[in-house]
Amino acid sequence: MNRKADIIVVGTGVAGLFNALNLPPDKSILMLTKTGADASDSFLAQGGICVLRDENDYDSFFEDTMKAGHYENDPASVDVMIRTSPEIINDLISLGVEFEKKDGEFAYTREGAHSKPRILYHQDLTGKEITSKLLAEVKRRKNITIMEHMTMVDLICDGNTCFGVVASNDDNEISVFEADYVVLATGGLGGLFDNSTNLQHLTGDAIAIALKHKIELENISYIQIHPTTLYSKKKGRRFLISESVRGEGAILYNQKMERFVDELLPRDVLTKAIHEQMKADGSDFVWLCMMGIGSEVIKKRFPNIYLRCLEEGYDVTKECIPVTPAQHYFMGGIKVDLDSKTSMEHLYAIGEISCNRVHGANRLASNSLLESLVFAKRAATHIVRHYEHLSDKNTVVDINDFRDLEQLQSRYKKIILDEIERSSASIERSYNIKA
Ligand SMILES: Cc1cc2nc3c(=O)[nH]c(=O)nc-3n(C[C@H](O)[C@H](O)[C@H](O)COP(=O)(O)OP(=O)(O)OC[C@H]3O[C@@H](n4cnc5c(N)ncnc54)[C@H](O)[C@@H]3O)c2cc1C
Repeated sequence: MNRKADIIVVGTGVAGLFNALNLPPDKSILMLTKTGADASDSFLAQGGICVLRDENDYDSFFEDTMKAGHYENDPASVDVMIRTSPEIINDLISLGVEFEKKDGEFAYTREGAHSKPRILYHQDLTGKEITSKLLAEVKRRKNITIMEHMTMVDLICDGNTCFGVVASNDDNEISVFEADYVVLATGGLGGLFDNSTNLQHLTGDAIAIALKHKIELENISYIQIHPTTLYSKKKGRRFLISESVRGEGAILYNQKMERFVDELLPRDVLTKAIHEQMKADGSDFVWLCMMGIGSEVIKKRFPNIYLRCLEEGYDVTKECIPVTPAQHYFMGGIKVDLDSKTSMEHLYAIGEISCNRVHGANRLASNSLLESLVFAKRAATHIVRHYEHLSDKNTVVDINDFRDLEQLQSRYKKIILDEIERSSASIERSYNIKA
């Protein structure tokens, strides 16, 4: 199949959906996604989304983000994210997103390394609340088409200009899609790891494709490990126990049931402390106790965590649960500027696959949904302002290069892992990377 659109957006998480919604209705937009439109990490986000509550919090929000990122963040990106946050929250509310309120005012929660409560939330299902509303709106727009089960396997480039995407469906049928602009919104790469909170189909394919076309990358070995995921001997995705649980008072214990750490340390520092404790205990997990939060609050505030733990045989209102660190987030990615432009003309990258260095070496909790939305909107604005039609090319692609999707995916996986290995001094060796 050969098809043309004005703009192609690859990925239907918060970044891709919000980008598409901010593009003009007179442009035809084609969204491609690897599995179902609702199969994205964005749906899984539990804790919430940060916002600048008022001017008095600016310095503290800025400092918390920089400190968590070990001051490797780009201050300009951090400033843009924080300053734009109230506008983004208003956009979400106008799209029907609901956040928790108390006495008619927004309720704010706090997570690790935040010095103040500044996180808006919807139970422990914030990502689902936001992303489902964005997806519903995208489906209402006549100029946007979503093609599911359509995996991007390559970009079509002419020198340093991108003008389309090669994609494969689940039956290995190859399609060529040409466009004036391509926006990569393909999320993280947790699917490359044995222990990850991410959906398994998120394997960072865009990184391998970027390497092939010499598109610049940044901080590719900056991979965040979340300190608390539900311990399980079963294979597959790890269930996250959100930081906001600790923000609301949950406590970590070692095997002697002694408290051993400040639960609200930044993620990387806490992960290190848990690892050391697990080593000292000769155990694969530590204990997390939510009982102090109280049964009623747990069921109202964390219904998803409560029910999922029950399914796994733990009643968090009555007992501690075993938790262990797991891969969670990709701070590095395809290098972009403040408008999310990559080093290739007519190619943008947004959301977790992009790197504008807003998170530095370690992401502050609940900054990711915000960052994805802020820069997705900026990318859309930049495309509109500088719109340039590319002449029709009627590209012919040698489809034999992409015939075997499984083989291609394992080749891409090796390319990415080799690159991470090459540029990595900091990646944790203890996380069994799948061979
Ligand atoms: C369990 C969990 C809890 C989290 N909690 C929070 C939180 O409370 N607050 C917060 O701010 N952040 C949180 N995060 C992080 C946040 O959810 C993600 O960083 C963010 O949603 C990423 O959005 P995205 O649009 O970039 O990617 P995603 O939402 O992951 O979407 C990626 C999309 O790209 C598609 N795709 C991938 N590869 C291809 C390909 N080759 N071809 C076609 N399509 C492709 C996928 O199918 C998917 O549609 C959490 C993450 C997890 C995993």
